[in-house]
Amino acid sequence: MEEINIKPQDGLKEMETEGDSGHASDASDEVLEYAKNVESVELEPYETDIVWQNVAKFVIIHALFFYGATYLPSMSLNMWIFMLISTQISGLGITMGAHRLWAHKTYKAKLPLRIFLTFANSLAGQNSIYIWSRDHRTHHKCSEKMGDPHNAKRGFFFAHMGWLMVRKHPEVTRAGKTVNMTDLENDKLVMLQHKYYITSFLLCGFVIPTVLPYLLWGECLYTAYFMAIFRYVITLHVTWLVNSAAHFFGYKPYDKTIGPTENMLVSLLAMGEGFHNYHHTFPYDYSTSEWGYTFNTTSRIIDAMASIGQAYDLRTASKATIEARSVRTGLPELTAIYQKKAL
Ligand SMILES: [Zn+2]
Ligand SMILES: [Zn+2]
Repeated sequence: MEEINIKPQDGLKEMETEGDSGHASDASDEVLEYAKNVESVELEPYETDIVWQNVAKFVIIHALFFYGATYLPSMSLNMWIFMLISTQISGLGITMGAHRLWAHKTYKAKLPLRIFLTFANSLAGQNSIYIWSRDHRTHHKCSEKMGDPHNAKRGFFFAHMGWLMVRKHPEVTRAGKTVNMTDLENDKLVMLQHKYYITSFLLCGFVIPTVLPYLLWGECLYTAYFMAIFRYVITLHVTWLVNSAAHFFGYKPYDKTIGPTENMLVSLLAMGEGFHNYHHTFPYDYSTSEWGYTFNTTSRIIDAMASIGQAYDLRTASKATIEARSVRTGLPELTAIYQKKAL
């Protein structure tokens, strides 16, 4: 058992094992036991059942996206700035909110920051925080096995977006039920967003981003509306790249026995979420990487929030833990620690 290094300012005494699924109440033994069971049982016969309603939804939204792209060359500077900022905010709703705060509990946040992240998450429109976190915890628990909602073993397209167009494999449903969600069920804000999810998605994702530019500088409502769709589709694909590209292309410095990789391009696009071999090895680390702020806007913002007291109890893996693990299961010469030593 290795311990993790807790930042001096946070005062958190918890210890975690490296096999942690990232969920505060998941015992790693239970996770390993489950994984063994999944591998050994006969899987029930399953035929891919396409959900045509979802396929139609994606076709329409992409058609609107491409049409929206024709607005870009003639768009006002104000609208460009608004779109870039709102894209970053919706990205944070996933990376800093649903992923690092709620799914993995890598840090804690005060109410004002949680309210902001709930808004940002509704802007991103990738299902409620509750559902997103449940699917994501299931992904870590059964990574690249049949219980994984976006099992990369079923191909790049399936891991990217295909999984949202077919009925869930029964094993995914079964695995999802084994994930402990009581922490989020006790979180009033998370459950409020879950209860009114569709309203909050439509309001934060489309109504506000359409009306606000019109009220602020008289932007054409059509342009603002199509830019809301443009932002929505871009954020979807960037998030999906973490499940697809970062499970296919890149190095494995920390654990070469698993599928997830270190993918710099995905990190750059997804505000630091492409350090995926590190993240699957040390899911409790708020930074999802040992490279500091390199391609990691999310860590930068969590640290900024920590400096004003809105984020606290940031958890990280210690240098000794990272080194010991990469020597044992990975390629230590590719880690930041080794490269600093080699200088
Ligand atoms: Zn994760
Ligand atoms: Zn993954």
